[in-house]
Amino acid sequence: MAKIGKKEKNYLKEKFVERVCFDKVERKLYGHDIAAIPSLIKPFIGKTIPDAVFQPENEEEIVEIIKWAYKKGIPVIPRGKATSGYGGVIPIKGGIVIDFWRMRRVIQIDEKNMTVTVQPGITWEELDRELKKRGLTLRLYPTSYPSSTVGGWLAQGGAGIGSYEYGYFSQNVISAKAILPDGTIKEFKGEELELLSDAEGITGIITEIKIYVKPYQEEDVISIACPDPHQTQKLIFKMIEENLPIWSMIFINPRMAEMKNRAPLMEHHGHPIEERVLLPAAYILTIAFEKKHEKQIKSSVEKIVKTCEAEILSERIAKHEWEKRFKLMIVKRLGPSLVPAEVIVPLENLGDVMDEIERKVNQPVVKEGVIIKKGKYGKPEAVILGFIPSDQRKFSYNFVFGLVLTIMKIAEKYGGRPYATGLYFVNKAEKILGKEKFLKLKEFKKKIDPKGILNPGKVIHNKIGGILSIGEVLEPILRPIANTVSTQIGERPLKPIKGIPPDVIWYAYSCSQCGYCVDECDQFYGRGWESQSPRGKWFWLREYIEGKEKWTQKMVDTFLVCTTCELCNLRCSAALPIEPSWMKLRGKLINEDKKMTFPPFEMMAASLQKEGDIWAGYRKDRTNWFPEDLWGKHGPNKKSKNVYFAGCTASYVEKDIGIASVRLLDAAGVDFTYLGEKENCCGTPMLVAGKWDVFVETMKKNIEAVKEKGADTVITSCPACDMMWRYYYPLWAKKLGIEYNIKAKHYSEIVAEKIRKGEFKFPENKEKPVKVTFHDSCHIGRVSGVYEEPREIIKAIPNVSFVEMPFNRQNAHCCGSVLTLIKEPDVAAEIGKKRLDEAIEVGAEKVIALCPCCEFQFRVTADKKKLKVETVDLARFAASYLGYEFPDPNSEVKRQWAVFEAMIHLMTPAGFANLMGTMWKELIDAMPFGMGKMMRFFGKIPGILNLMKPLFPILFPRLLPMMMPKVLPVMLERIKERIPMPDYMLEQMPEIMPKVMDALMPHMIKDLVPLVSQPLIDYLRGKI
Ligand SMILES: Cc1cc2nc3c(=O)[nH]c(=O)nc-3n(C[C@H](O)[C@H](O)[C@H](O)COP(=O)(O)OP(=O)(O)OC[C@H]3O[C@@H](n4cnc5c(N)ncnc54)[C@H](O)[C@@H]3O)c2cc1C
Ligand code: SF4
Ligand code: SF4
Repeated sequence: MAKIGKKEKNYLKEKFVERVCFDKVERKLYGHDIAAIPSLIKPFIGKTIPDAVFQPENEEEIVEIIKWAYKKGIPVIPRGKATSGYGGVIPIKGGIVIDFWRMRRVIQIDEKNMTVTVQPGITWEELDRELKKRGLTLRLYPTSYPSSTVGGWLAQGGAGIGSYEYGYFSQNVISAKAILPDGTIKEFKGEELELLSDAEGITGIITEIKIYVKPYQEEDVISIACPDPHQTQKLIFKMIEENLPIWSMIFINPRMAEMKNRAPLMEHHGHPIEERVLLPAAYILTIAFEKKHEKQIKSSVEKIVKTCEAEILSERIAKHEWEKRFKLMIVKRLGPSLVPAEVIVPLENLGDVMDEIERKVNQPVVKEGVIIKKGKYGKPEAVILGFIPSDQRKFSYNFVFGLVLTIMKIAEKYGGRPYATGLYFVNKAEKILGKEKFLKLKEFKKKIDPKGILNPGKVIHNKIGGILSIGEVLEPILRPIANTVSTQIGERPLKPIKGIPPDVIWYAYSCSQCGYCVDECDQFYGRGWESQSPRGKWFWLREYIEGKEKWTQKMVDTFLVCTTCELCNLRCSAALPIEPSWMKLRGKLINEDKKMTFPPFEMMAASLQKEGDIWAGYRKDRTNWFPEDLWGKHGPNKKSKNVYFAGCTASYVEKDIGIASVRLLDAAGVDFTYLGEKENCCGTPMLVAGKWDVFVETMKKNIEAVKEKGADTVITSCPACDMMWRYYYPLWAKKLGIEYNIKAKHYSEIVAEKIRKGEFKFPENKEKPVKVTFHDSCHIGRVSGVYEEPREIIKAIPNVSFVEMPFNRQNAHCCGSVLTLIKEPDVAAEIGKKRLDEAIEVGAEKVIALCPCCEFQFRVTADKKKLKVETVDLARFAASYLGYEFPDPNSEVKRQWAVFEAMIHLMTPAGFANLMGTMWKELIDAMPFGMGKMMRFFGKIPGILNLMKPLFPILFPRLLPMMMPKVLPVMLERIKERIPMPDYMLEQMPEIMPKVMDALMPHMIKDLVPLVSQPLIDYLRGKI
């Protein structure tokens, strides 16, 4: 097979620009699936890193790339979400991975004929969401529903939730379009679909799929406990005989029940946020059906269970099992690895197979299964997915992996077969696919792809199949060894490795790579590349821990840029505390290892340490926003148990938020005071920047100021401030031994309570009716749990109609601020647009928000993306119905953003190089030890400066700090020309800028020197 060389790279780059990637880390992340390959098998698979990853946007692009690849003999490997564990997506011969993330549209929903046509990259969850809008739903889906793609399931094949009634997925497909190696677009229908289904992309790249769907009906579920697998089998047969209108039937074995009972619960800032529902140590069968059949099914099941020594479990257990059906990977937390073995067996042998596995495999095999009423050959079948907890970091993992062969042998003995082929089970292809299909597939492949470029080494032939055959022969010898491996179950974080905390290491290996966190992570959807997703980061961390990767500034930035939205924590199938883990790394990377944080944070830190705020405003101006008429009633001299904490942005930029918040609180009769000039930034920017020393210093000042007031409650308007007072200050106070008895409340909680109690009411108004929506800020929502109160306030205002965005409350999408905004403004605009588009989709005229940073980001985004939707602060919106008027924050936001954006561009190696290019004269004059004169002299001698060039990387870092004080005035002049700074900021620059340069230069100089070397030589030679 051919490789992608320089010429090919240039072609791809020119053609597809940002949608093709050659970055080594990124390619690595597109070179694996969910399985952890044992170390003894890895060498036989070889290198699995593709040469390139490509994300097409349409069919035409795929046609073009396939034709090109075919001509050159370059392998093409299609990839959905890589949630399969059979190695189908692994590029064993290099080549180009085609990732379908950008092809995930619903093409057509045909309500009359109950069909839907989609692009291959759409996930089941996303498709179901779209269908439900039309009163339809999926007939069946895999339990990887939150992440796996429609195209991936057709290519991989399989059964899942709903298969009891609807069989295998391929039986529900009407047609599919695929691109053949010569670029032909072929539509596969009827029997021909066999050539695509279960074929893992070796016969065509699927670009469109039409499937059957069904009307949406409310579901109901029942869980039944059975004492043993034989009774379970009997129970299922009885239900089949009675022809009960059951839609889905899944089961787990007692070991799985036990593991689930032991698995960690989902946590929120260290506290469990779900109840433990204990399962009996039994075979638990969960059936789902349409609610309208509830009576019929319940009365039949009640009779049947009596004949099978079974019992119906509580509704609570049934609901829990059903709700958690996608979260089976939680048991991986106890491994931290799982050896998977998946087989399909005739239902009539389910009991015998389960018994024999228990007898022969002396390891805790946790199992779950799916029942198919009409299996491949018309008879009922059971899919058994077995997992053996193990630890991939240990050599014994190789032996435990061998037990997969034992389970397979047992299944085959009872007329069963492995689940799929992929990379590992090609020697079983005839059995898995059926002889006829296997031969047809082989013949078709030979005809259309003689060079074998489409997903080489999968399904029908490779050398791994041979190794597996040898393994099968050796199985009787391997099994006893594997059975002696002692398996520990439970979380066992040990010691830090390379500075990574033990618990984070454990999580890295517990991550199942299921991908549930990928699509909904704003960092991922803002860019579309795996390295930005939690899944990609966990994989990278494993590589780092194993010494295969090193920290680069790019990787540091990748961890830092996470917006801390916390959505991933809720989506994770293993309930991993993802964001808190990244938070720990922020401290390690920046505070301990002294790596570079985002440059604008250095500016904020300098300003914060000087004046107590991040906007470079003077401390004396902090209180300017406070309404004069309320100064006596709520100003700093007032004594109260409640302190209103405005935060920096409301104090200096979006002042309407502060003014409106105190107006609202005052109107609602709330007693409170204000810290005035004693208020400091809450510290959130420093915490997320990893500048924990500055954070601690700031936090202490704030706690002290509140204590001095004799207050015990801090009322916030800014969600980041709220997060600090509610969670981080208590946490850090405990860590540092500081007494902390302060409660945090958001003003919306207080005002809503007053409304609820009838103590506060908005007056009638004659305003034009307005339709609004509410954006849940991540920090007030997912972190502080305040979802309903802001809505209650909006709904209490007469003449306002309220509409929800599709993603609301705990599922709400992030706005894209602050970290992304200051690191990559263009990406932030993409993220912000996604959220504002939701508001536009539901027809809202205004997006009501309550976070200064979200509001800032939405305003910048709407401006950049020309979106016609207005952002209004909640307090402002509400208080305006009390008759108050407020200053327009938009002009100040624009003014401040212009400063920030220019700063962001300046504080990069390219920005600084550009700046230096405007001051060569002064820089050379400032060189110490008469070096400036010498350099000028060398400039006159041809060739000498070029000879000196290799010395520049050594000289510059030594000279620059000595030159800085001398060039500072001119440098500030040049900065002033580039950045439209307000006067107060400009005045402080002589103090702030040197601190910023001191913090940044040691990190940037390496990248800066190559950019300035030639321009310096050119200047000295008089060329510029
Ligand atoms: C938690 C969890 C639960 C799961 N539950 C089930 C289940 O209930 N039932 C089940 O069957 N499986 C299940 N799986 C396995 C897996 O999710 C499914 O096989 C899924 O259908 C794979 O989809 P994908 O988008 O991830 O495809 P990938 O894994 O990316 O790809 C699978 C195969 O399809 C090929 N392919 C992908 N897209 C295309 C395309 N457009 N054209 C041609 N070839 C393509 C790939 O090359 C590969 O060979 C589960 C996995 C996990 C992690
Ligand atoms: S907290 Fe948000 S941005 Fe960060 S990794 Fe999780 S989902 Fe992505
Ligand atoms: S972090 Fe959680 S959701 Fe994401 S891939 Fe890992 S286990 Fe799955």
